[in-house]
Amino acid sequence: MTMPVRTTCPYCGVGCGVLATAGAATAGAAVSVAGDPLHPANAGRLCSKGSALADTLGLDGRLLRPRLHGQDTDWDTALDAVADGFRRIIDAHGPDAVAFYVSGQLLTEDYYVANKLMKGYIGSANIDTNSRLCMASAVAAHLRAFGEDVVPVSYEDLESADLIVLAGSNTAWCHPVLYQRIVGAKARRPELKVVVIDPRRTPTAAIADLHVALKAGSDVALFNGLLWYLHQHGAGDREFIEAHTRGVDHALAVAENTAGNVAAVAKHCRVAPDVLEEFYALFAGSPRTVTLFSQGVNQSSAGTDKANSIINCHLLTGRIGRPGAGPFSITGQPNAMGGREVGGLATTLAAHLELGRAEHRALVQGFWGSPTIAAAPGLKAVDLFESIHARRVKAVWIAGTNPVVSLPNANRARAALRRCELVVVSDCVADTDTTALAHVLLPAAAWGEKEGTVTNSERCISRQRAFLPAPGEARADWWMFCRVAERMGFRDGFRFQSPHEIFAEHARLSAAGNDGSRAFDIGALAGLTCADYEALTPVRWPLSGAGGERSEGERVVREPAARPFADGRFYHADGRARFVATVPRAPMYDIDGEYPLVLNTGRIRDQWHTMTRTGRSARLMQHAPEPFVDLHAQDARHAGVRPGELVQVSTRWGSVVARLRCSGDVGRGMIFAPMHWNSQYAGDARVGSLVSPAVDPVSGEPEFKHTPARVAPFVVAWQGFALSRRRVLIRDATAWSLTPGAHCLRYELAGRRVFGNWSPWARRLLEADDPACDWIEYSDRSIGVYRAAHLVEGRLEACVFLSPRPDLPSRTWLTGLFGKPTLDPQDRCGLLAGRPARSNVDTGDIVCACFSVGRNSIRAAVRERKARSAAEIGRQLRAGSNCGSCLSEISGILTAELESGSAGSADVVTCTYGGS
Ligand code: SF4
Repeated sequence: MTMPVRTTCPYCGVGCGVLATAGAATAGAAVSVAGDPLHPANAGRLCSKGSALADTLGLDGRLLRPRLHGQDTDWDTALDAVADGFRRIIDAHGPDAVAFYVSGQLLTEDYYVANKLMKGYIGSANIDTNSRLCMASAVAAHLRAFGEDVVPVSYEDLESADLIVLAGSNTAWCHPVLYQRIVGAKARRPELKVVVIDPRRTPTAAIADLHVALKAGSDVALFNGLLWYLHQHGAGDREFIEAHTRGVDHALAVAENTAGNVAAVAKHCRVAPDVLEEFYALFAGSPRTVTLFSQGVNQSSAGTDKANSIINCHLLTGRIGRPGAGPFSITGQPNAMGGREVGGLATTLAAHLELGRAEHRALVQGFWGSPTIAAAPGLKAVDLFESIHARRVKAVWIAGTNPVVSLPNANRARAALRRCELVVVSDCVADTDTTALAHVLLPAAAWGEKEGTVTNSERCISRQRAFLPAPGEARADWWMFCRVAERMGFRDGFRFQSPHEIFAEHARLSAAGNDGSRAFDIGALAGLTCADYEALTPVRWPLSGAGGERSEGERVVREPAARPFADGRFYHADGRARFVATVPRAPMYDIDGEYPLVLNTGRIRDQWHTMTRTGRSARLMQHAPEPFVDLHAQDARHAGVRPGELVQVSTRWGSVVARLRCSGDVGRGMIFAPMHWNSQYAGDARVGSLVSPAVDPVSGEPEFKHTPARVAPFVVAWQGFALSRRRVLIRDATAWSLTPGAHCLRYELAGRRVFGNWSPWARRLLEADDPACDWIEYSDRSIGVYRAAHLVEGRLEACVFLSPRPDLPSRTWLTGLFGKPTLDPQDRCGLLAGRPARSNVDTGDIVCACFSVGRNSIRAAVRERKARSAAEIGRQLRAGSNCGSCLSEISGILTAELESGSAGSADVVTCTYGGS
C-alpha cells in the first residue's frame, strides 16, 4: 500500500498540512487526501476546498508540452525562444523593457530564482506578483511601523486572546480552518469576544458578539477614533510607548483632529454610536487582543493607512510581542509570505533586505556574485500592465497566475498583452484567459508533482512534496527560470539541480550580514542535507536564538526561538516602532448619479482565485453554480430587478452579467460580486473587468472593495439550462455559464433570439440529430415553455429546459437523474412535467460541499426529524461535520425553519434521494 505523503494545501494562507495518498505511481491516478494531524496549522482539519483537492488532479485540461505560437514544440526550442526574446529586447531597450509577473502560488524556491534572475542578472526590479493584489498594503504598513515586514502574531494567539477583532476578513469562507480554530476557542472559553468589522454581514459574523457594519472605506476614521478613545480612557501603555516607539504625539494629534468625537466618527462610518462605543470599550478593556485583518483592509486606495491605523492601536496599548495580542495580517495565498521572504515584489530586495539601501544592494550582489543589481523599485502590478499597454515593457513572463481575470481593469490587461511583443506564460493549465494570449507556453508541474517550501500566514515554513510524477513534459518553475538564465549567459548563478540547493542558498542569504539586524533569519536551515530537507517538519521563524529541537517519534520538531518583538526591539535603525499618523481619505472614485452603488468584490466559500483548479471539482461547484451578485432588496427594486433574474452590472471600466441575489447580507448602496468566474466558465462574468484601476499610493494595491457601479435588468426573451454528459457547443445564447457536475455538465443559458420551433435547435445543441434516437419533448408555444431530453438505452444523456422566466425546474433533482443507470416511467413523466413525479427526490441546492447535503434535506431534518441544532443536523446528515465551512448557513436554515413555524408540520417534503 502507498504511504501517505506529507504536503501542504496549495490554496489559502492558513497553510494546512495535507496527507496525500496516490493510488498508483502514475499521474492522474486516484488520490485521497486528509488533513495532517501533526501539522501545527490545522491539526488534521481541512476546509471544503482542501478536502476536495483530489478532485482537482488529473490530466484533463493540463498543459503537457511547450508551445510556440500555438504549436507544440520541445523544451530546447521553447527555452531558446524565451531567452533569445528577452535578450534581444534587453539589448535593444534596456533591462526595464522586460518583466516577470509571478504568483503567491509559486514555491519559495521558484520565487527565489525568478527574483535573483530579474534583480541580480537582468538588472531590473520589474518582477511583481499577484500577491500585490491581496496583501501589499500590509507589507508596506509593516515596513513603516516595524522597519521590517514581520507578522508578529501566530495562530495560537487567536486561541489565547480575550478579544479577536476580525477587520475586513470573511474568515469563515476565506480562511476556514483558522475560523474553526476561533470557533473552537470560543466554545471552550465563552468569555472570548469576537468583533467583526465589515460592511457586509458575512458568514463570519455568525460568531460575532458585535458586528460593526461600517461604511465601505471608512476604516481609518474608525481606528483613529479607537486610538483617541484608548488614549482618553487611559488604555495607553506609557512605559512601552516611551521605551519602544516614536511618533505617538503626532499620531494622537491627527487622531484627535480627524476622529476625536465618538458620535462624529459613528456618523462618518454610518455605525450606531452605541455599537462603536461598545467596540471601543471592549478593545480598551481587553489586554489580550488580536486584530486580524485581510483583504477588506488591504484592497483599498488607503490600504496602507488602514493597516497602520490598526497597528497604531496595538502600539499605543503595547499589545504586540505578547501572547494573545497583536495586529495580524493574514495572507490570501499559500506562499505570499514565501514570496515576501525572497523579495519577490518589485519594491523589495531579497531576504527582507531593502532595495533603497546601497549597503543592502551591495550585500545581495556580493552574496550572489551577480553582474549587477537593480537599483530602483520596479513596476507594481497595475503599473506593469499599464507599461505593457504603453509598449514600454515589451516582454513579460507570467508564471502561475491569470491576470486577464484577476487584475483590476482586466480588459485593459487583456488589451495590454495583445499589444505585447513577447508574452511567455508558464502554467499547468492549458486554456486560461491568459494562456490564450501567450506566444510561448511552458508546461508547469502542478500541486502534487512539485517539490519545495511555502510559508503560511504565521511564518511557518512547510514542505510541499510530490506524490505524483509530473505528466508529459511538465517541469518545475525553478527549473524553467534556471534554464532560461543559463541560455541568457548567466550559467554561474543558476547551476541549481534541485529545490534543496536553492533553499540552502536562500537560507544562507537570510543570515548574511544579519547578526540580528533582520528578523527574517533562517540561517539555521542552511546546512540541511538533502535528506534533512526532504524530512523537514513545519518550522516557524525567527529561528535564531534558543529555540532548539525536540523529537516526536521519528520527526524532528524545531521550536521557534522567540516571539517577534517580545523584547520590544523593532527593526528601524533605532530599534523603535513607528506610529504612522493616518489621515482618513475617501476612496479614489466616488459614487454619482450614473454609478450610484459601491461594488465590493471578494471570494466565496468553495472557489479559489480564477477557478482554474477548483472549477474542476464538481462538488465545489455546486454551492454557487453560476456567477451572481448580491444586492440589497430596496436597491434591487430601485433598479427594476428581482432576485433570480439576470442583471448587468456596469462600471466605467467594464460590465458583467450575473444572477441577482438579495441575501440580506449586503447593506443599502452596495453590490457584492465574487471574483472567480473566468471565460471558460461564463460568457461575461470576469468581475476584474469592472474594478477601477485605483491603487494605494504607498503599496500599489488595487481598490477591489470600492468601485462605483450600477445595476440594470439584462433583458432576454428566454432562459433555460441544458444538462449533458458531454460538452456542448453553445449557440444563440446571449448569456451562459458552465458548471461541472458529478455525472453531467450544467449550462445555464439565456437568449434574445426566439425560435418558433425549438426542436431542431435543441437537437443540435444536445447532438441528438438522429430522428430515431430516444427523444422526449414537450412544447407549449402559447407560454414559451420547452422541455426535451435525450436518452440512450434508457439512460439520460442530455436534457434542456427553456422558459421566458427564470422559474425553471430543480437542477439538483435533474442532475440526480444522471446518476441512474436507467430512468423509470415516473422519471420520464417528470422530465415532461418539469418536476419530479415523486415528492421526495429533490435534495435542494447544495449547502454542505463535503458531503453533498442539500438545503431541502436540512429543512426536512428540522421539520421531520426534529433537529434543533446544527450539531444535531450534523449527526443526522453529516452536514457541517467535516470542515464546518457551511455551519453558519445551516444555522440560518435552521433558524428560518423554526421561525416559519413549519418545523412541527407533518406535511413536508422528505428527502431520501442522494442527500447524504
Ligand atoms: S483553510 Fe482550506 S484552503 Fe486554506 S490551507 Fe486549509 S484546507 Fe487549504
